[in-house]
Amino acid sequence: METKYIFVTGGVVSSLGKGIISSSIARLLKARGYRVTIQKFDPYINIDPGTLNPYEHGECYVTVDGHEADLDLGHYERFTDIRTTRANNVTTGRIYQSVIDKERRGDYLGKTVQIVPHITDEIKRNVKALGHTGDYDFIITEIGGTVGDIESLPFIESVRQLRWELGDNCLCVHLTYVPYIAAAKELKTKPTQHSVKQLQEVGIQPDILVLRTEKHISPEMRRKIALFCNVSPDSVIQSIDVSTIYEVPVKMHEQHLDELILRKCGIPVEGEPDMKQWAQFLEKLHGATEEINIGLVGKYVELPDAYKSINESLLQASIYNDRRLKLHFIHSEKLTEADVEEKLSGMDGVIIAPGFGQRGIEGKFVALKWCREHDVPTFGICLGMQCMVIEFARNVLGLQDANSTEMDPSTPHNVIDLMDDQKSIHNMGGTMRLGAYECDLVPGSTPAKAYGSTRVSERHRHRFEFNSDYRERFEKAGMKCVGENPATHLVEIVEIPEKRWFVGTQYHPEYSSTVLNPNPLFLDFIKAAIKYNAEKAAK
Ligand code: GLN
Repeated sequence: METKYIFVTGGVVSSLGKGIISSSIARLLKARGYRVTIQKFDPYINIDPGTLNPYEHGECYVTVDGHEADLDLGHYERFTDIRTTRANNVTTGRIYQSVIDKERRGDYLGKTVQIVPHITDEIKRNVKALGHTGDYDFIITEIGGTVGDIESLPFIESVRQLRWELGDNCLCVHLTYVPYIAAAKELKTKPTQHSVKQLQEVGIQPDILVLRTEKHISPEMRRKIALFCNVSPDSVIQSIDVSTIYEVPVKMHEQHLDELILRKCGIPVEGEPDMKQWAQFLEKLHGATEEINIGLVGKYVELPDAYKSINESLLQASIYNDRRLKLHFIHSEKLTEADVEEKLSGMDGVIIAPGFGQRGIEGKFVALKWCREHDVPTFGICLGMQCMVIEFARNVLGLQDANSTEMDPSTPHNVIDLMDDQKSIHNMGGTMRLGAYECDLVPGSTPAKAYGSTRVSERHRHRFEFNSDYRERFEKAGMKCVGENPATHLVEIVEIPEKRWFVGTQYHPEYSSTVLNPNPLFLDFIKAAIKYNAEKAAK
């Protein structure tokens, strides 16, 4: 089968969930046995989102091959279990950088270098790069931004050209918004009509429209949209608000979106997608009534997307443990000795979030001291793990000014220090220790038991590390190094085994947790939280 290309564009407003729709299409096609991947083209000029503040762009996701990627790639992986790479996320910055490099090399042989054809050619080359591997039946390409933005024009123009080049192997899905006007008690189709017109103006006729809506869209209204937007009524799909994003593939299948795509690509529609396991997950999700209270201590509490993968991992792990996750965001900048009891005593487990820089760090120490002393299941991730180490050094080892050299370069006790190979690095972009590395686990430790293995591979994003000069002192006092990199012996996991569950990982287990394969460490953490909750109740 020739590779089919599905483009997903968005209109009217941003944040409609193009990533979720792309992921849902991929899930359904994969469940029908097709080989699928998803890529995202982002219109900003940053080379990658690695240098972006979470306030700008939410969480930075990391692929196994060490690319700092848009958080939508997290959705792609969580929905589909495919592993994305650097090739799955391209920005305008990367496109321009590559064109300018070629120009400097003289590759354009004296030609004037222009947006059309040079930038669009480079975009098209990147769109088709994964297709050329021969590994995929479907390549879904999500175009970031909204149709009509100046920034996304070259991408949209490339899609227009690709429709000619790819012919029947190309499909365009356009996601728009149908607002409900409460005063008129009416859904309004005009924004959709305008947005489709905008696409038509640049030469693209969408094949399928997906309409985000709060209310049910009537068949009559679908016919009206079809008429005005030049598509058939069965190509108008509604994406109504649902209680969980994981319902979306099911809702899309109910309206035959997967069949529609196959038919439009000239592929015979046979049987049904195998969504058995997915349905079981949803059944558990809706069946879980008993709550589990987890506190997430971090400085970006007002940003729901800043800890996206952690939130989703916790949710998945809770559902597999038949619990409804109640996540409490606890602002690390505001947490003090005076209110820590009040804020944490209702928690069944506490996560200490990853992060960079000094802001909010003291609150993390306050939380950690309280959790350690009250033996609350506690999970430190990346900076959270480093804070576990610092808090232990200060309050158990008595090294009062212990710190990470990230926060205090002249600390007398640099229990967390810059990694050697980071010392000569000055550029901030893409230079951290990134991507998946192997980790050996100490047999019998909590992580080894949780994973059911003594070697795992997880993803990283950091510059600082546990200072092994202090290892013996920590181990003697009860904080054990239970995971290390087999090649460099870098400490990847610490644990206080005498506690209920007190584990910190230098790596980010949240990046590998998916709906169908939840991360074992999160599963085990929630299990410990449930047990602790029961013990509290029995007292
Ligand atoms: N700031 C820390 C480091 O660079 C931790 C990074 C993180 O939490 N992702 O090592």
